[in-house]
Amino acid sequence: MCFYEQIVYGCGDFKWGHFRQHCNREYRIGEVCGMKLVYQSAQENHLCKVCEKLNTKYRRRQTECERIERWQREGSRQASIEKSMELIYQLDREIQTLLAERERRGGGMAPVAYA
Ligand SMILES: [Zn+2]
Repeated sequence: MCFYEQIVYGCGDFKWGHFRQHCNREYRIGEVCGMKLVYQSAQENHLCKVCEKLNTKYRRRQTECERIERWQREGSRQASIEKSMELIYQLDREIQTLLAERERRGGGMAPVAYA
């Protein structure tokens, strides 16, 4: 177990920063072991990059949904509606990819073990 800086974002996700300290076990051989622990934690107010992207895509999706609703009420612009639906479909796929990426990174479960 070796100790690293940790950055925690407003959304609860985190990322590892600089390496700070070897653990006792690995100190002698001068290598970093695979297990990361928190040396010091810094809180950032803004969202992590993945959540920021997700937010943008959710907003975009919402806008498209509202446009479709309006066009359907007006009973016109079938071509625009189809184009919008296509875009929503694409956004959904991008959102799925981002959610999977967030999951892979540990999705908001910041470990709390301090040096
Ligand atoms: Zn996040």
